[in-house]
Formats: sequence, structure tokens, C-alpha cells
Amino acid sequence: MKLSYSPFDLKLKHTFTISRSSRDISPVVLVELEHEGIVGYGEAAPTRRYGETIETVMAFLGSLDLSGYPSPFDLENILNDVDAKAPGNTSAKAAVDIALHDWIGKRLSIPLHQYWGLDKSKTPLTSFTIGIDRREIIEQKVREAEEYPILKVKLGGSNDEEIIRTIRGVTKKTIRVDANEGWKTRETAVERIKWLEQEGVEFVEQPMPAEDLAGTAWVRERVNLPLVADENSLRLHDVPKLQGVFDGINIKLMKCTGLREGMRMIATAKACGLRIMAGCMIETSVAISAAAQLSPLIDWADLDGAILTTNDPFDGVRIEKGRMILPDRPGIGVVRRG
Ligand code: MG
Repeated sequence: MKLSYSPFDLKLKHTFTISRSSRDISPVVLVELEHEGIVGYGEAAPTRRYGETIETVMAFLGSLDLSGYPSPFDLENILNDVDAKAPGNTSAKAAVDIALHDWIGKRLSIPLHQYWGLDKSKTPLTSFTIGIDRREIIEQKVREAEEYPILKVKLGGSNDEEIIRTIRGVTKKTIRVDANEGWKTRETAVERIKWLEQEGVEFVEQPMPAEDLAGTAWVRERVNLPLVADENSLRLHDVPKLQGVFDGINIKLMKCTGLREGMRMIATAKACGLRIMAGCMIETSVAISAAAQLSPLIDWADLDGAILTTNDPFDGVRIEKGRMILPDRPGIGVVRRG
């Protein structure tokens, strides 16, 4: 089994701003895992929020030696060893996980959703993300997003009300709000969420800083909108702690080390009575298509990472009017664009 990897700069259609950062280019690392002539694709989209950069991903992948394992079918042993190699490095670990799953699907000539027994007609609608921006740009972005029935709006700054009013001036479609830990006091969070309740918002993601679980529970008792954990929902062991604090969790392959642990988080969340969203970073169709393969199991999707870019080197899951269409291809379902 041979692992190769290289950095790739994903270019964004618009400068992307959330409550803690702003950027035009989003670097990822593309991975190929070759064994017996079959190549599985993987991807790492590192974020500084979780202590990763392109350099840490390259260093982690460079520290791995998969030559001693009999085949990618040894996935459980391989991924346990990869996870034990060093703490953190979750996007680098996810790249290996995705590539192994892609290889297995290709070897068996079936898409992963079929391997898991999932109904591809049950993929949820994905939201389309509107970052924090000036009024004119937000109006333009909302118009460009006309075909998408659900918007995910980044708040948590000083002009939340202006952003929502601007969007509501253009469209009445469903809005999901992501505060990205931006509201620093419980009182601010309650006040903003109560206002959002009247603006046709479906739920609020990560209203409070991740370290303030008690504050989040306090907020939840005082508002009606469901609260969804993102920065609080990193890996499997986080899920049980969120019962009674949040109403749902956002699973991202780049936070949870990939599809294997993502599936376990889905099962655990269901057991805890938590609803489930699958989200993403800015990613190519490799990581997006991988997450889309398990999306028939989830309630909400936010898998727009690839459609926010202009130079995706892969063709994979297609998104038509927000509906995710899983391709009839084996594994994660991607091919390199000509
Ligand atoms: Mg989020």
C-alpha cells in the first residue's frame, strides 16, 4: 500500500469571512492511496481552529508507513494505528480514512452508500453558505444562491441584524444561522436568538464559545430555536456530553478523523436523542462526496464547500437545487476532471 500526497490551493468565488477569519484561497492536501493497481482518493482540509496547517498535514502523512498492512481491507487496524500515532491531526487522519474507504468501494465496484445499505434517494437538501460581508456583497451572494432553497448565514459579529435584514430584503427562504462561537455572553446569545426566532430561522449553530458548555445550556433553556454543536462536536467522545446542552450536532469528517468515526458519531447521536448535520470545510469534491455518501443517515446537510470554489479538480456529488445527487460510481464517487 502506497500513500502519496500533495498540497492544492482551492480558489474561492468570494472572499470568505466568518466570525474569526477571512480568506480568498483555501489550501488542502490531496491524497492517493495505491494498492494492487487501484487508487483511492482522500483529502485533508486543515483549519487553524483545530491546530492544523498544510505543513502539519504533510508532516503527519510523511510519518506514516502503510507498507506493512496486507490491504485497505485491514481498515480498522490501520485507522486505529494512524489515530494512535499522534493526538490531533484530524484532517490528516480523515484523508487516510477517506482514501481507504474509496479504495474498498472501488475494489468491490460499489458506491459507499450501497456498501452501507443506504438509500441514495434519501440525501437531504444542502444549505448554501453566506459569509459575513458588506450589504451589497451579501445581496449579490443571496441572488447568486437563488437555486438553493436553504441558506446558512454566518453571524456572530457586530452587524448580525443588518445581515439578516439585508437577506430578508432579497428572499424569504429558510435560513440556518452559524454564530461560530461569536456571541461572547449568555445574555447576548439569548437576545440575538430571540430576535432570530421571528426571522424564519430554522436553527442556530454554536452560539457560544466551545469552552462554555454551561453557558450554552443556560441559553438553551431560554430560547425556542434548536441549538446545534459544531466547535463542541469534534469527535465521538464529545457526543454524550452534548445531551441536554444542544439539540443536534454537526459532524465534519475533518474534525472527526473520517467516515469510520463519523458513522459512530451518527449512531451515538441517535442514541442520545440528538439530531445530525453533516458539515464541511472549504473542500474539493473528494471530501464533500465522501460525506455525501453517508448523508442518507442525517437530518441536515451543509455540504457546499466545493461549490464555493472555482477550481475543484474533481467531479463527484452533484448539487441540483440543493439536492445532493450521488453519482453511479464506486467508492466515494469521484473522478479527476479532464
Ligand atoms: Mg459551524
